Amino acid sequence: MKILVANDDGIFSPGIKALALALSSLAQVYVVAPDAEQSGVGHGITFRRPLRFTHTAAAGLGDLPAYRVDGTPADCVVLGVSLLGRPDLVVSGINLGANLGHDLTRSGTVAVAIEGTQLGIPSIAISLRSSNGEFDFAPAASYAVQLASWVLQHGLPKRTLFNVNVPEGQPTGVSLTALSDHRYRDEIVEHIDPEGRPYYWVTGRPGAEHLEGTDFGAVEAGRISVTPIRLDLTDHRALSDLTGQLPPYPR
Ligand code: MN
Repeated sequence: MKILVANDDGIFSPGIKALALALSSLAQVYVVAPDAEQSGVGHGITFRRPLRFTHTAAAGLGDLPAYRVDGTPADCVVLGVSLLGRPDLVVSGINLGANLGHDLTRSGTVAVAIEGTQLGIPSIAISLRSSNGEFDFAPAASYAVQLASWVLQHGLPKRTLFNVNVPEGQPTGVSLTALSDHRYRDEIVEHIDPEGRPYYWVTGRPGAEHLEGTDFGAVEAGRISVTPIRLDLTDHRALSDLTGQLPPYPR
């Protein structure tokens, strides 16, 4: 069995090291990750410039094969699968911070799993919540091994991935969840540069309204959240409700 491990925090992140070393107890692991942090780039693909794929011995990964790419998280999956061979599983993370609700549309961590799923490979994204910037990866790494083993055995529905969020501290259990309405309420902070011109930081406050049965509710309650995510974004209810309702093209 072979597992491709990637992330969006970069190959030198302690999260990918914890994940790759833990999964190497289960299968043959190879690591392909961005050479610099790519959090928030979503599912971007680089196709207007060439990419480098560089063996990296100094990533603290022991003798696991490790490569860094000067591109996006999704680039890492595309190149890793093409150049190193098709894995049985793609696992992304462990991300430094949660990926809940609407975060999924921006997350590079989840984009790794989306790319893997699009290539027909079962894929899991794993993120660890922290309120103070400190991360204990042991519980997330330990559950990653359990879940990876389960997925290798049972597979995943076609075009579906698992998005996993691990709470701070010792998890009290595991919940199968739906996506919440969690999002960052964007705030723009303006400062003035040395030449007197304004510049801006996009930042935001996290929050969600619906807790019951959701990813946000699970991690709030100290539980690991596993959300099955479908790549088919079609709103099938609207497709049915709106049939025959759209205005015609004017003649
Ligand atoms: Mn990240």
